[in-house]
Amino acid sequence: MVNADVRKAVRGRVLEPGDDGFDAARRAWNRTVDQPVAAVVAAEDAEDVAALVRYARRSGLAVTAQAGGHDASGDVEGVILLRTGRLDGVRVRAEERLARVGAGVNWGRVLSAAGPRGLTGLAGSSPVVNVAGYTLGGGLSWFGRRYGWAADSVRAFDAVDADGERTRVTAESDPELFWGLKGGGGDFALVTSLEFDLHPAPSVYGGRVVWPGTRAAEVFETFQTITRDAPPELTVWFGRFAFPGAPPMAALDLTYLGDPREGAALVRGIDGIDGAISDDRGLVAVAGLGGIAAEPTAPAASLPRAELLTGLDEGLATEPIEPLISIQIRHLSGALAGPGGGASGTLDEPYLLQMVGTGPDPDLARAVREKQARFVERFEAVIAGRKPYTLLTPEETAADAFPGPVLARLRELKRSRDPQGVFRANHSVHR
Ligand SMILES: Cc1cc2nc3c(=O)[nH]c(=O)nc-3n(C[C@H](O)[C@H](O)[C@H](O)COP(=O)(O)OP(=O)(O)OC[C@H]3O[C@@H](n4cnc5c(N)ncnc54)[C@H](O)[C@@H]3O)c2cc1C
Repeated sequence: MVNADVRKAVRGRVLEPGDDGFDAARRAWNRTVDQPVAAVVAAEDAEDVAALVRYARRSGLAVTAQAGGHDASGDVEGVILLRTGRLDGVRVRAEERLARVGAGVNWGRVLSAAGPRGLTGLAGSSPVVNVAGYTLGGGLSWFGRRYGWAADSVRAFDAVDADGERTRVTAESDPELFWGLKGGGGDFALVTSLEFDLHPAPSVYGGRVVWPGTRAAEVFETFQTITRDAPPELTVWFGRFAFPGAPPMAALDLTYLGDPREGAALVRGIDGIDGAISDDRGLVAVAGLGGIAAEPTAPAASLPRAELLTGLDEGLATEPIEPLISIQIRHLSGALAGPGGGASGTLDEPYLLQMVGTGPDPDLARAVREKQARFVERFEAVIAGRKPYTLLTPEETAADAFPGPVLARLRELKRSRDPQGVFRANHSVHR
C-alpha cells in the first residue's frame, strides 16, 4: 500500500489494491505478464509527472512509465505504475519536418498526422505500439534501413529527472543523457514528450503476398535473392504461419520508400512464385503502414522471442514451427549497420528472427518456450546471441541486448542520474 499522500501529491487518478478498476488499470498489453504494482497513477500532464517523481523520491518508492504496456516485463513489484495516456498531444510541423508527441501517443496517430503532409516517422510494424517506449528502446522501423534507429531521429526529449525537475534533453544540453535515452530504455528519466525528425514519403509501395506453406522454400529463396542487393529504401520480411485450424502459409511483407514502379521492379522475383493466395501489393498510405504485417491490435497472451541473425540458413524455410504460430525474418543492414548516435549503436547483424507463440495455457506456454529454445539450437550457426532491447522477453535482461561497453556506460549513467533508483525500466540496466 503506498502512502495515502500520493493522492494529495498528484492531480491525476490514483488507484490502489482494493480500488474498483485497479486490476484493469495495472494490466499489461501482453496478458501473460502480471504487474503486481503498489498503485497506478494516470498523470494529467508533465507537471503531474514531476509531482509524482518528487512524491516517489520522498517516499523511497520507484516509478515505472507505461503508455500501453506492450513490453511489460513484470519486474514491478511494489512500484508505482505511471500511465501516460493523457499526455496525448500530436503536432506535426511539416515545413520543419518535425513531430512533437506526448508520451502517451501511439504510432498510428503520428502516421495519420504525417502521411497527408507527404512525411513519415520511423514506425515499426504495429500502429498501436507507443512512440515513447519504442523510441527509448531504439525502435526498429520499416524504414530503419534508410534512416537508422527511430531513436537516432530524435531531436529533443522533454523529461522529468530523478529530482522531479522538468528538463529538456538535447545533444547540446546533456549529451550523455541524450545518448542514453536514445535506445537505453526507461531507466534514466521519465519522458513526457519527444520531438523527432519526419522523413519524406511522397509515395510508399508495399504490401503482403501470401502462399501455401508448400511454397515456403521458394519464397525464402526469393527473399534471399532480393535482400542480397536491396537498396536501403526497400525492406522485405519473410514469414511463416501455423495458425491452429488453418493450413500453413508463407509470406513476404515489404515496403519501398519511393516510386511504386521502381519498387515493383525491385521485387519482380516475387511474380515468379506461383500459387499466391493473396497479393495486396500497391501504393500504401503512410497511415496504412501499420496494417501490412497484420499484427494483433488488441491485447493478447503473446509469447515472442527474438534473435539477431548473422546470416540465413535454408532450414528456416522448412523446419516445422508448431506449436509456434509464426516466425518472421526481418532484413536489417543499411543505415542500421552505421554507427548511430545513441545507446542502440551499430546493428552488425543483417537479419532478425522473431518466433511467436501464444499462452496463457501453461502447458502450451512451456511447449512454445521449448520450441523457441530448440529453434535457437538448430540454427546456432547463424544465431548472433543478442537481440534488440525493444524485443526482450520478460525472462531476458539488458545484458542480452547491449554489448559489454555499452551496458557499462548505461549502468554508469544510471548510477549518476538516478542513484536512489526512482525509475524502474521494464528491463533495468542493473539486472
Ligand atoms: C505487436 C507488436 C509489434 C511490435 N513491433 C515492433 C517493431 O516493429 N519494432 C520495434 O522496435 N519494436 C516493436 N515492438 C516492441 C515495442 O517497440 C516495445 O514493446 C516498446 O517498448 C513498446 O512501447 P510501449 O510504450 O507501447 O510499451 P510500454 O510497455 O508501455 O513501455 C515499454 C517500456 O518503455 C519505457 N517507457 C515507456 N514510456 C516511457 C516514458 N514516458 N518515460 C520513460 N520510460 C518509458 C518503460 O521502461 C516501459 O517499461 C512491437 C511490440 C508489439 C507488441
